[in-house]
Order: sequence, then structure tokens, then C-alpha cells
Amino acid sequence: MNNLGALAGQVAIKRKPKGPCPSCGLKVDDEADNCPHCGYKLSAKDRARLREHLKKQYEKGVKLALIVFPVFIGLIVLIYELKNA
Ligand SMILES: [Zn+2]
Repeated sequence: MNNLGALAGQVAIKRKPKGPCPSCGLKVDDEADNCPHCGYKLSAKDRARLREHLKKQYEKGVKLALIVFPVFIGLIVLIYELKNA
């Protein structure tokens, strides 16, 4: 369980957040100077917008996890209860 947590942490660190390029819409690093797909030069404003987008996505993910996790636990408890009924 501990190893799994460490692994998940490593994966989370390795996966750099990326958002859509303002020009081509493909995923681009929020710290990149240029879009690797179309070469669009990202301005400070573009980067700020990208980070805002990533923040919203992150918050959406957290909210989803907050909904999914209790449901998951509820299901486990339910299965456990049914097995012991
Ligand atoms: Zn692009």
C-alpha cells in the first residue's frame, strides 16, 4: 500500500500539467515558450490563462474525487455487509 502511494506520487510528479494552446488547441506545457505543435509563441498572458485553465481542471478533478471516493467506500461497505448478511 505504501509502495503504491509512492508510485502514484512519482507518476503525479512526472506528469507535468498541460493545457490547450491558444492557437492550435493541442496540449502545451504551461512553462513552455513556444507551442511544440504549431510554434505559437506563448505570451505571459497566454501562460496565465493556461494556468487558470489547469487550476480549474485540477479543482474539477478534486471535486470528482470527493464524489467518487465516498461512493467507492460505500460500495465496499455494501459488498462487505451483503457478504456477512
Ligand atoms: Zn499550438
